[in-house]
Amino acid sequence: MSTPTAPRLTVALTFDGDSLSDAVRRGDPPVKLSHGEFGPRVGIPRILELLRRESIPATWFMPGHTLETFPSTTAAILEAGAAAGGHEIGCHGWYHEDFSALSAEEQGAILERCVAKVREVTGAAPRGHRAPYWALGPDTLRLVEDHGFIYDSSLMADDYRLYRVRHGDRHSPTGPTTFGEEGRLAQVPVYWALDDWPFFEPAPATGRDALSAPSRVLEIWSGELHYAYDHAPGGLLTVTMHPECIGRGHRMAMLERFIAEAKALDGVVFDRLDRYVERWLAS
Ligand SMILES: [Zn+2]
Repeated sequence: MSTPTAPRLTVALTFDGDSLSDAVRRGDPPVKLSHGEFGPRVGIPRILELLRRESIPATWFMPGHTLETFPSTTAAILEAGAAAGGHEIGCHGWYHEDFSALSAEEQGAILERCVAKVREVTGAAPRGHRAPYWALGPDTLRLVEDHGFIYDSSLMADDYRLYRVRHGDRHSPTGPTTFGEEGRLAQVPVYWALDDWPFFEPAPATGRDALSAPSRVLEIWSGELHYAYDHAPGGLLTVTMHPECIGRGHRMAMLERFIAEAKALDGVVFDRLDRYVERWLAS
């Protein structure tokens, strides 16, 4: 997969612009809504400024509700991206729905609405999809493929390598799993340890750590960076972040240090997911 001219490692900074979308759907109270509002109000401008300063193109998975509620933020992402080689906008539900709890018809209607919205704001169909909560029903990725996406970024079967999504796996509690056929859709794997949310956001019900010191997260992300650099030539390291989470000052300082550490390694580049996926599909 790797060619002599290919980067040693590609790092993709991805931002899920959840903002108010899930809180609105759940009817959450004012504090939770204000927590989401921090994203477009403070987090996104800070992130865009950092990406501009570092000339880094990024991928933004945006719920339709965020694109529609904050049109000036949407415009700012597209405008700021022009200077950084262009940011990518992918789909992330409309109200950050849990696809595993919806019928195929309901999921299809949401995907259609989201694709139309991204087309409206960017002038082109989205290439990438990330399921809200990384929650998928058995039919979801077939629907994502049918709606014209070239990749999804919600599964965990690999880390630094893309793979093709299979359809029709069969699992049984009394026999072996049989695997279905690979489809067209590429998978860009994700993982909790490369996501800001489980470390930083209070989630007592899950028993997960929260409000972690950034130094701890930087140690983990740096460990992934160096391992991928040493052991996965030509690979992709995908980091998932949320503007209302990473946008807090002490975490932005960590993100700046992470970027500096990656840039100090010879042969590391930052790129959008769609471009990396396109090269992988063509190879
Ligand atoms: Zn999300």
